[in-house]
Amino acid sequence: MRYVLVGGSAAAVSALEAIRSVDKSGRIDLFSDENVPLFSRVLLPYYVAEELSKPLLNFRSADFFEENNITAHIGVRVQKIDPDSKTVTADDGNTYEYDKLLLATGGNAIIPKIPGVDKDGISTLKTMQDAERIYNFDGERAVVIGAGSIGVESCISLMRRGFRVTLLEQLGHVLPTVFDDEAAGIIRGVIEQMGIEVITGERAIEFTGNGRVQSVVTSTGEIECDNVILAVGVRPALELAEPAGIEIGMMGGITTDSGMLTSCQDIYAAGDVCETFDIARNQSFINAIWPMAVEQGHIAGLNMAGQDKQYAGSVRMNSIGNFIGIPAMSMGVTRSDECSYVDEECHFQEVKKRTKNTYKKIILKNGCIVGAIFIGVGQTQRCGIISILLRRQIEVSDYIQTLISNNLSFMDILPLLRRYGDKFTEPEYKELMDTGL
Ligand SMILES: Cc1cc2nc3c(=O)[nH]c(=O)nc-3n(C[C@H](O)[C@H](O)[C@H](O)COP(=O)(O)OP(=O)(O)OC[C@H]3O[C@@H](n4cnc5c(N)ncnc54)[C@H](O)[C@@H]3O)c2cc1C
Repeated sequence: MRYVLVGGSAAAVSALEAIRSVDKSGRIDLFSDENVPLFSRVLLPYYVAEELSKPLLNFRSADFFEENNITAHIGVRVQKIDPDSKTVTADDGNTYEYDKLLLATGGNAIIPKIPGVDKDGISTLKTMQDAERIYNFDGERAVVIGAGSIGVESCISLMRRGFRVTLLEQLGHVLPTVFDDEAAGIIRGVIEQMGIEVITGERAIEFTGNGRVQSVVTSTGEIECDNVILAVGVRPALELAEPAGIEIGMMGGITTDSGMLTSCQDIYAAGDVCETFDIARNQSFINAIWPMAVEQGHIAGLNMAGQDKQYAGSVRMNSIGNFIGIPAMSMGVTRSDECSYVDEECHFQEVKKRTKNTYKKIILKNGCIVGAIFIGVGQTQRCGIISILLRRQIEVSDYIQTLISNNLSFMDILPLLRRYGDKFTEPEYKELMDTGL
Protein backbone atom coordinates (compact mmCIF):
# COMPACT_ATOMS: atom_id res chain seq x y z
CA MET A 1 0.00 0.00 0.00
CA ARG A 2 1.28 3.51 -0.85
CA TYR A 3 0.07 6.46 1.20
CA VAL A 4 0.65 10.12 0.40
CA LEU A 5 -0.04 12.72 3.08
CA VAL A 6 -0.06 16.40 2.11
CA GLY A 7 0.61 18.61 5.14
CA GLY A 8 2.94 18.03 8.05
CA SER A 9 1.02 19.36 11.02
CA ALA A 10 -1.64 18.17 13.49
CA ALA A 11 -3.93 16.30 11.10
CA ALA A 12 -1.23 14.70 8.92
CA VAL A 13 0.92 13.55 11.85
CA SER A 14 -2.09 12.09 13.62
CA ALA A 15 -3.09 10.26 10.41
CA LEU A 16 0.44 8.98 9.97
CA GLU A 17 0.46 7.52 13.49
CA ALA A 18 -2.95 5.94 12.94
CA ILE A 19 -1.80 4.36 9.67
CA ARG A 20 1.32 3.00 11.34
CA SER A 21 -0.74 1.54 14.19
CA VAL A 22 -2.37 -0.72 11.58
CA ASP A 23 0.07 -0.94 8.68
CA LYS A 24 3.71 -1.23 9.76
CA SER A 25 5.24 -1.55 6.33
CA GLY A 26 3.25 0.41 3.74
CA ARG A 27 5.15 3.24 2.06
CA ILE A 28 4.22 6.67 3.45
CA ASP A 29 5.31 9.87 1.72
CA LEU A 30 4.58 13.04 3.70
CA PHE A 31 4.90 16.50 2.12
CA SER A 32 5.17 19.78 3.97
CA ASP A 33 5.95 23.04 2.23
CA GLU A 34 7.15 24.58 5.50
CA ASN A 35 10.88 24.23 6.06
CA VAL A 36 10.60 23.53 9.77
CA PRO A 37 8.90 20.21 10.54
CA LEU A 38 6.85 19.12 13.55
CA PHE A 39 6.34 22.44 15.33
CA SER A 40 3.11 23.29 17.11
CA ARG A 41 1.37 26.27 15.56
CA VAL A 42 -0.56 26.70 18.81
CA LEU A 43 2.70 27.72 20.50
CA LEU A 44 3.74 30.37 17.96
CA PRO A 45 2.38 33.25 20.08
CA TYR A 46 4.73 32.14 22.90
CA TYR A 47 7.66 32.15 20.48
CA VAL A 48 6.68 35.62 19.29
CA ALA A 49 6.54 36.73 22.93
CA GLU A 50 10.10 35.40 23.38
CA GLU A 51 8.79 32.99 26.03
CA LEU A 52 9.56 29.72 24.20
CA SER A 53 12.59 29.02 22.08
CA LYS A 54 12.22 27.19 18.76
CA PRO A 55 13.15 23.67 19.97
CA LEU A 56 10.42 23.88 22.62
CA LEU A 57 7.77 24.35 19.92
CA ASN A 58 8.22 20.78 18.63
CA PHE A 59 5.41 18.32 19.31
CA ARG A 60 7.35 15.27 18.13
CA SER A 61 11.02 14.35 18.41
CA ALA A 62 13.56 15.06 15.65
CA ASP A 63 13.83 11.37 14.67
CA PHE A 64 10.04 10.90 14.49
CA PHE A 65 9.89 10.38 10.73
CA GLU A 66 12.80 7.96 10.74
CA GLU A 67 11.38 6.01 13.66
CA ASN A 68 8.09 5.60 11.83
CA ASN A 69 9.69 4.73 8.51
CA ILE A 70 8.25 7.77 6.75
CA THR A 71 9.68 9.38 3.63
CA ALA A 72 9.32 13.02 4.66
CA HIS A 73 9.59 15.69 1.96
CA ILE A 74 10.15 18.78 4.07
CA GLY A 75 10.11 22.13 2.30
CA VAL A 76 8.45 20.47 -0.71
CA ARG A 77 5.08 21.68 -1.97
CA VAL A 78 2.61 19.43 -3.75
CA GLN A 79 1.48 21.39 -6.79
CA LYS A 80 -1.16 19.14 -8.25
CA ILE A 81 -3.11 15.99 -7.56
CA ASP A 82 -4.56 13.80 -10.29
CA PRO A 83 -7.33 11.51 -9.01
CA ASP A 84 -7.52 9.66 -12.36
CA SER A 85 -3.91 8.53 -12.46
CA LYS A 86 -3.74 8.53 -8.60
CA THR A 87 -0.62 10.67 -8.58
CA VAL A 88 0.60 13.87 -6.99
CA THR A 89 3.15 16.21 -8.54
CA ALA A 90 5.49 18.14 -6.28
CA ASP A 91 7.69 21.19 -6.82
CA ASP A 92 10.79 18.95 -6.54
CA GLY A 93 9.90 17.98 -10.12
CA ASN A 94 8.74 14.45 -9.24
CA THR A 95 5.43 12.66 -9.50
CA TYR A 96 4.40 10.22 -6.77
CA GLU A 97 1.79 7.47 -6.96
CA TYR A 98 -0.67 6.77 -4.17
CA ASP A 99 -3.27 4.20 -3.26
CA LYS A 100 -4.65 6.45 -0.51
CA LEU A 101 -4.16 10.20 -0.31
CA LEU A 102 -4.76 12.56 2.62
CA LEU A 103 -5.27 16.30 2.17
CA ALA A 104 -4.27 17.91 5.46
CA THR A 105 -3.31 21.27 3.97
CA GLY A 106 -4.84 23.34 6.77
CA GLY A 107 -5.80 26.95 6.20
CA ASN A 108 -4.23 30.05 4.68
CA ALA A 109 -4.22 33.26 6.68
CA ILE A 110 -6.57 35.78 5.09
CA ILE A 111 -4.89 38.96 3.85
CA PRO A 112 -7.56 41.66 3.73
CA LYS A 113 -7.71 43.81 0.60
CA ILE A 114 -6.76 47.05 2.32
CA PRO A 115 -4.63 49.60 0.42
CA GLY A 116 -1.00 49.41 1.62
CA VAL A 117 -1.34 45.89 3.07
CA ASP A 118 1.92 44.80 1.39
CA LYS A 119 4.09 47.34 3.25
CA ASP A 120 7.03 46.18 5.35
CA GLY A 121 6.28 45.65 9.02
CA ILE A 122 2.91 44.00 8.32
CA SER A 123 2.47 40.26 8.85
CA THR A 124 -0.03 37.52 9.44
CA LEU A 125 0.74 34.88 12.12
CA LYS A 126 0.23 31.43 10.61
CA THR A 127 3.52 29.91 9.52
CA MET A 128 6.92 29.64 11.19
CA GLN A 129 8.14 32.16 8.62
CA ASP A 130 5.47 34.61 9.81
CA ALA A 131 6.49 33.98 13.43
CA GLU A 132 10.13 34.69 12.61
CA ARG A 133 9.16 37.92 10.85
CA ILE A 134 7.18 39.04 13.91
CA TYR A 135 9.96 37.87 16.23
CA ASN A 136 12.21 40.30 14.38
CA PHE A 137 9.76 43.21 14.56
CA ASP A 138 11.46 46.31 15.90
CA GLY A 139 9.83 49.51 17.01
CA GLU A 140 7.56 50.55 19.82
CA ARG A 141 4.00 50.63 18.59
CA ALA A 142 1.99 47.82 17.05
CA VAL A 143 -1.56 47.41 15.84
CA VAL A 144 -3.24 44.01 15.74
CA ILE A 145 -6.17 43.84 13.37
CA GLY A 146 -8.84 41.31 14.31
CA ALA A 147 -9.75 40.34 17.88
CA GLY A 148 -10.28 36.61 17.45
CA SER A 149 -8.18 34.18 19.51
CA ILE A 150 -5.05 34.63 17.38
CA GLY A 151 -5.45 38.43 17.43
CA VAL A 152 -5.84 38.57 21.20
CA GLU A 153 -2.90 36.20 21.74
CA SER A 154 -0.77 38.19 19.29
CA CYS A 155 -1.40 41.52 20.97
CA ILE A 156 -0.62 40.11 24.41
CA SER A 157 2.59 38.52 23.02
CA LEU A 158 3.73 41.87 21.61
CA MET A 159 2.72 43.68 24.79
CA ARG A 160 4.87 41.23 26.81
CA ARG A 161 7.77 42.16 24.53
CA GLY A 162 7.35 45.79 25.42
CA PHE A 163 5.31 47.07 22.48
CA ARG A 164 2.49 49.56 22.99
CA VAL A 165 -0.35 47.71 21.32
CA THR A 166 -3.74 48.63 19.90
CA LEU A 167 -6.24 45.88 19.15
CA LEU A 168 -8.66 46.84 16.40
CA GLU A 169 -11.87 44.87 15.78
CA GLN A 170 -14.56 45.81 13.29
CA LEU A 171 -17.33 43.91 15.12
CA GLY A 172 -18.92 45.04 18.36
CA HIS A 173 -16.86 43.03 20.82
CA VAL A 174 -13.59 41.13 21.19
CA LEU A 175 -13.47 37.38 20.47
CA PRO A 176 -16.76 37.61 18.56
CA THR A 177 -16.91 33.98 17.45
CA VAL A 178 -15.66 32.56 20.73
CA PHE A 179 -17.59 34.41 23.46
CA ASP A 180 -20.89 36.25 23.77
CA ASP A 181 -20.84 39.99 24.47
CA GLU A 182 -21.12 39.57 28.26
CA ALA A 183 -18.07 37.27 28.46
CA ALA A 184 -16.23 39.43 25.96
CA GLY A 185 -16.87 42.47 28.17
CA ILE A 186 -15.05 40.82 31.08
CA ILE A 187 -12.17 39.75 28.85
CA ARG A 188 -11.90 43.21 27.29
CA GLY A 189 -11.56 44.68 30.78
CA VAL A 190 -8.71 42.27 31.55
CA ILE A 191 -6.92 43.07 28.28
CA GLU A 192 -7.29 46.81 28.84
CA GLN A 193 -5.91 46.45 32.36
CA MET A 194 -2.78 44.99 30.80
CA GLY A 195 -2.31 48.32 29.06
CA ILE A 196 -3.59 47.30 25.63
CA GLU A 197 -5.83 49.77 23.85
CA VAL A 198 -8.94 48.03 22.51
CA ILE A 199 -11.02 49.59 19.76
CA THR A 200 -14.16 47.78 18.58
CA GLY A 201 -16.70 48.64 15.89
CA GLU A 202 -14.01 50.26 13.74
CA ARG A 203 -12.39 49.06 10.51
CA ALA A 204 -8.89 49.52 9.10
CA ILE A 205 -9.22 51.15 5.70
CA GLU A 206 -5.62 51.98 4.75
CA PHE A 207 -2.00 51.46 5.79
CA THR A 208 0.19 54.53 5.27
CA GLY A 209 3.97 54.73 5.06
CA ASN A 210 6.71 55.00 2.52
CA GLY A 211 7.68 51.36 2.03
CA ARG A 212 7.31 50.62 5.71
CA VAL A 213 4.04 50.93 7.59
CA GLN A 214 3.66 54.13 9.62
CA SER A 215 -0.01 54.16 10.52
CA VAL A 216 -3.34 52.44 10.21
CA VAL A 217 -6.13 54.66 8.97
CA THR A 218 -9.47 53.54 10.41
CA SER A 219 -13.06 54.47 9.63
CA THR A 220 -12.83 57.30 12.19
CA GLY A 221 -9.17 58.06 12.82
CA GLU A 222 -5.52 57.11 12.43
CA ILE A 223 -3.24 55.01 14.67
CA GLU A 224 0.52 55.51 14.33
CA CYS A 225 2.53 52.30 14.48
CA ASP A 226 5.76 50.56 13.50
CA ASN A 227 4.24 47.13 12.97
CA VAL A 228 0.93 45.46 12.23
CA ILE A 229 -0.30 41.90 12.71
CA LEU A 230 -3.22 40.88 10.52
CA ALA A 231 -5.41 38.37 12.36
CA VAL A 232 -8.64 38.43 10.42
CA GLY A 233 -9.04 34.68 10.03
CA VAL A 234 -7.97 31.66 8.03
CA ARG A 235 -9.51 30.10 4.95
CA PRO A 236 -9.18 26.40 3.98
CA ALA A 237 -6.20 25.82 1.66
CA LEU A 238 -8.00 24.45 -1.40
CA GLU A 239 -5.27 24.91 -4.02
CA LEU A 240 -5.11 21.14 -4.57
CA ALA A 241 -8.70 20.10 -3.90
CA GLU A 242 -10.54 22.60 -6.10
CA PRO A 243 -8.76 21.96 -9.42
CA ALA A 244 -9.10 18.22 -8.80
CA GLY A 245 -12.89 18.62 -8.67
CA ILE A 246 -13.22 17.57 -5.03
CA GLU A 247 -16.51 18.78 -3.53
CA ILE A 248 -16.34 21.92 -1.40
CA GLY A 249 -19.04 22.51 1.23
CA MET A 250 -21.19 25.53 2.12
CA MET A 251 -18.65 26.74 4.71
CA GLY A 252 -15.81 26.71 2.16
CA GLY A 253 -14.03 23.57 3.37
CA ILE A 254 -13.60 20.17 1.73
CA THR A 255 -16.72 18.07 2.25
CA THR A 256 -16.04 14.85 4.14
CA ASP A 257 -18.23 11.92 5.10
CA SER A 258 -18.17 10.36 8.55
CA GLY A 259 -15.11 8.33 7.57
CA MET A 260 -13.25 11.52 6.52
CA LEU A 261 -13.47 10.48 2.86
CA THR A 262 -13.91 13.31 0.33
CA SER A 263 -16.14 13.15 -2.73
CA CYS A 264 -13.19 11.54 -4.56
CA GLN A 265 -12.40 7.86 -4.22
CA ASP A 266 -9.37 7.11 -2.00
CA ILE A 267 -8.83 10.80 -1.15
CA TYR A 268 -9.37 11.72 2.48
CA ALA A 269 -9.22 15.11 4.20
CA ALA A 270 -8.71 16.14 7.82
CA GLY A 271 -8.09 19.26 9.91
CA ASP A 272 -8.62 22.93 9.15
CA VAL A 273 -9.04 22.27 5.42
CA CYS A 274 -12.26 20.31 5.80
CA GLU A 275 -15.81 20.49 7.04
CA THR A 276 -17.20 17.89 9.40
CA PHE A 277 -20.51 17.42 11.15
CA ASP A 278 -20.65 19.92 14.00
CA ILE A 279 -22.50 18.30 16.90
CA ALA A 280 -23.61 21.57 18.51
CA ARG A 281 -24.70 23.32 15.34
CA ASN A 282 -26.20 20.21 13.78
CA GLN A 283 -24.67 21.07 10.42
CA SER A 284 -21.45 20.80 8.46
CA PHE A 285 -18.88 23.27 9.82
CA ILE A 286 -15.14 24.02 10.00
CA ASN A 287 -13.88 23.74 13.57
CA ALA A 288 -10.32 24.89 13.00
CA ILE A 289 -8.67 23.89 16.25
CA TRP A 290 -5.76 21.57 16.97
CA PRO A 291 -7.58 18.78 18.90
CA MET A 292 -10.20 18.42 16.14
CA ALA A 293 -7.46 18.17 13.49
CA VAL A 294 -5.86 15.40 15.57
CA GLU A 295 -9.15 13.51 15.95
CA GLN A 296 -10.01 13.80 12.27
CA GLY A 297 -6.50 12.81 11.19
CA HIS A 298 -6.75 9.75 13.43
CA ILE A 299 -10.04 8.58 11.89
CA ALA A 300 -8.80 9.32 8.34
CA GLY A 301 -5.56 7.41 8.95
CA LEU A 302 -7.31 4.32 10.31
CA ASN A 303 -9.71 4.26 7.37
CA MET A 304 -6.89 4.79 4.87
CA ALA A 305 -5.24 1.71 6.37
CA GLY A 306 -8.36 -0.36 5.78
CA GLN A 307 -10.36 0.00 8.99
CA ASP A 308 -13.94 1.19 9.15
CA LYS A 309 -14.11 4.00 11.72
CA GLN A 310 -16.78 6.67 11.96
CA TYR A 311 -16.17 10.22 13.19
CA ALA A 312 -18.89 11.22 15.66
CA GLY A 313 -18.43 14.88 14.77
CA SER A 314 -16.57 17.94 15.94
CA VAL A 315 -17.14 20.62 18.56
CA ARG A 316 -15.44 24.00 18.74
CA MET A 317 -13.50 24.61 21.95
CA ASN A 318 -11.38 27.64 22.75
CA SER A 319 -9.43 28.63 25.79
CA ILE A 320 -7.68 31.97 26.14
CA GLY A 321 -6.90 31.68 29.84
CA ASN A 322 -3.14 31.17 29.50
CA PHE A 323 -2.86 34.54 27.83
CA ILE A 324 -5.27 36.74 29.73
CA GLY A 325 -4.35 35.32 33.13
CA ILE A 326 -7.84 34.27 34.23
CA PRO A 327 -9.55 31.02 33.19
CA ALA A 328 -11.70 31.64 30.11
CA MET A 329 -13.04 28.99 27.82
CA SER A 330 -16.00 28.22 25.63
CA MET A 331 -17.30 25.32 23.59
CA GLY A 332 -19.97 24.72 20.99
CA VAL A 333 -22.14 27.69 20.15
CA THR A 334 -22.06 30.95 22.09
CA ARG A 335 -25.67 31.88 21.32
CA SER A 336 -28.64 29.66 20.52
CA ASP A 337 -29.22 31.32 17.13
CA GLU A 338 -25.94 29.82 15.87
CA CYS A 339 -27.62 26.39 15.82
CA SER A 340 -29.39 25.22 12.72
CA TYR A 341 -33.01 24.42 13.58
CA VAL A 342 -34.14 20.85 13.19
CA ASP A 343 -37.81 21.79 13.22
CA GLU A 344 -40.16 24.39 14.65
CA GLU A 345 -40.53 22.40 17.85
CA CYS A 346 -36.91 23.13 18.82
CA HIS A 347 -36.69 24.59 22.29
CA PHE A 348 -33.67 26.62 23.37
CA GLN A 349 -32.74 27.64 26.89
CA GLU A 350 -29.82 29.75 28.13
CA VAL A 351 -28.88 29.37 31.80
CA LYS A 352 -26.48 31.99 33.18
CA LYS A 353 -24.68 32.73 36.40
CA ARG A 354 -22.83 36.02 36.81
CA THR A 355 -20.77 37.71 39.52
CA LYS A 356 -18.56 40.78 39.07
CA ASN A 357 -15.59 38.79 37.75
CA THR A 358 -17.07 35.44 36.82
CA TYR A 359 -19.54 34.28 34.23
CA LYS A 360 -20.96 30.94 33.33
CA LYS A 361 -23.49 30.16 30.64
CA ILE A 362 -24.90 26.89 29.35
CA ILE A 363 -27.01 26.77 26.21
CA LEU A 364 -29.48 23.91 25.81
CA LYS A 365 -31.34 22.73 22.76
CA ASN A 366 -34.19 20.34 23.54
CA GLY A 367 -32.57 19.64 26.90
CA CYS A 368 -29.10 18.83 25.48
CA ILE A 369 -26.06 21.10 25.86
CA VAL A 370 -25.02 22.82 22.61
CA GLY A 371 -22.74 25.48 24.05
CA ALA A 372 -21.09 26.73 27.21
CA ILE A 373 -18.95 29.63 28.40
CA PHE A 374 -16.86 29.72 31.57
CA ILE A 375 -14.97 32.81 32.75
CA GLY A 376 -13.16 33.39 36.01
CA VAL A 377 -11.29 31.64 38.76
CA GLY A 378 -12.80 28.27 39.65
CA GLN A 379 -15.21 28.28 36.72
CA THR A 380 -13.44 26.01 34.23
CA GLN A 381 -12.49 23.14 36.55
CA ARG A 382 -15.30 20.78 35.59
CA CYS A 383 -15.72 21.81 31.99
CA GLY A 384 -14.56 18.33 30.90
CA ILE A 385 -17.88 17.04 32.23
CA ILE A 386 -19.82 19.63 30.24
CA SER A 387 -17.83 18.77 27.14
CA ILE A 388 -18.67 15.05 27.46
CA LEU A 389 -22.36 15.83 27.93
CA LEU A 390 -22.28 18.10 24.87
CA ARG A 391 -20.43 15.66 22.65
CA ARG A 392 -22.74 12.78 23.56
CA GLN A 393 -25.87 14.98 23.40
CA ILE A 394 -27.09 13.68 26.74
CA GLU A 395 -30.42 15.07 27.95
CA VAL A 396 -29.57 17.14 31.05
CA SER A 397 -32.80 19.07 31.78
CA ASP A 398 -33.08 17.60 35.31
CA TYR A 399 -29.47 18.49 36.07
CA ILE A 400 -29.13 22.01 34.80
CA GLN A 401 -28.97 23.68 38.24
CA THR A 402 -26.27 21.19 39.27
CA LEU A 403 -24.30 21.80 36.09
CA ILE A 404 -24.36 25.58 36.45
CA SER A 405 -23.41 25.47 40.14
CA ASN A 406 -19.88 26.29 41.25
CA ASN A 407 -19.24 23.02 43.06
CA LEU A 408 -20.15 20.55 40.35
CA SER A 409 -18.53 17.20 41.03
CA PHE A 410 -18.30 14.03 39.00
CA MET A 411 -20.44 12.21 41.60
CA ASP A 412 -23.28 14.66 40.94
CA ILE A 413 -23.68 13.50 37.37
CA LEU A 414 -22.83 9.85 37.87
CA PRO A 415 -26.52 8.78 37.81
CA LEU A 416 -26.94 10.72 34.56
CA LEU A 417 -23.94 9.02 32.95
CA ARG A 418 -25.22 5.63 34.12
CA ARG A 419 -28.65 6.35 32.65
CA TYR A 420 -27.07 7.14 29.29
CA GLY A 421 -24.30 4.53 29.43
CA ASP A 422 -25.32 3.24 26.00
CA LYS A 423 -24.13 6.52 24.42
CA PHE A 424 -20.53 5.52 25.16
CA THR A 425 -18.40 2.70 23.86
CA GLU A 426 -17.28 0.28 26.54
CA PRO A 427 -13.67 1.59 26.74
CA GLU A 428 -14.92 5.19 26.82
CA TYR A 429 -17.35 4.44 29.61
CA LYS A 430 -14.67 2.62 31.58
CA GLU A 431 -12.23 5.50 31.12
CA LEU A 432 -14.87 7.96 32.23
CA MET A 433 -15.56 5.97 35.38
CA ASP A 434 -11.85 5.45 36.10
CA THR A 435 -10.77 9.04 35.59
CA GLY A 436 -13.90 10.83 36.80
CA LEU A 437 -12.80 13.64 34.44
C1 LIG B 1 -1.04 31.51 15.89
C2 LIG B 1 -2.01 30.35 16.04
C3 LIG B 1 -2.44 30.00 17.31
C4 LIG B 1 -3.33 28.94 17.47
N1 LIG B 1 -3.72 28.60 18.73
C5 LIG B 1 -4.53 27.54 18.89
C6 LIG B 1 -4.91 27.11 20.21
O1 LIG B 1 -4.55 27.73 21.21
N2 LIG B 1 -5.68 26.00 20.32
C7 LIG B 1 -6.10 25.29 19.22
O2 LIG B 1 -6.78 24.27 19.38
N3 LIG B 1 -5.80 25.69 17.97
C8 LIG B 1 -5.02 26.78 17.77
N4 LIG B 1 -4.67 27.17 16.51
C9 LIG B 1 -5.24 26.43 15.37
C10 LIG B 1 -4.42 25.15 15.12
O3 LIG B 1 -3.07 25.49 15.00
C11 LIG B 1 -4.94 24.48 13.85
O4 LIG B 1 -6.27 24.09 14.07
C12 LIG B 1 -4.12 23.24 13.49
O5 LIG B 1 -2.78 23.58 13.27
C13 LIG B 1 -4.70 22.61 12.23
O6 LIG B 1 -3.88 21.56 11.84
P1 LIG B 1 -3.88 21.06 10.32
O7 LIG B 1 -2.96 19.89 10.31
O8 LIG B 1 -5.27 20.89 9.85
O9 LIG B 1 -3.31 22.27 9.45
P2 LIG B 1 -2.07 23.22 9.59
O10 LIG B 1 -1.52 23.24 10.97
O11 LIG B 1 -2.47 24.51 8.99
O12 LIG B 1 -0.98 22.53 8.68
C14 LIG B 1 -1.12 22.37 7.30
C15 LIG B 1 0.26 22.25 6.70
O13 LIG B 1 0.16 21.87 5.34
C16 LIG B 1 1.07 22.63 4.58
N5 LIG B 1 0.63 22.63 3.18
C17 LIG B 1 -0.46 23.25 2.67
N6 LIG B 1 -0.54 23.03 1.35
C18 LIG B 1 0.51 22.25 1.02
C19 LIG B 1 0.97 21.70 -0.20
N7 LIG B 1 0.31 21.89 -1.33
N8 LIG B 1 2.09 20.95 -0.18
C20 LIG B 1 2.78 20.74 0.97
N9 LIG B 1 2.38 21.25 2.17
C21 LIG B 1 1.26 21.99 2.18
C22 LIG B 1 0.99 23.99 5.25
O14 LIG B 1 2.07 24.84 4.92
C23 LIG B 1 1.01 23.59 6.70
O15 LIG B 1 2.33 23.39 7.16
C24 LIG B 1 -3.78 28.23 16.32
C25 LIG B 1 -3.36 28.61 15.05
C26 LIG B 1 -2.47 29.66 14.91
C27 LIG B 1 -2.02 30.03 13.52
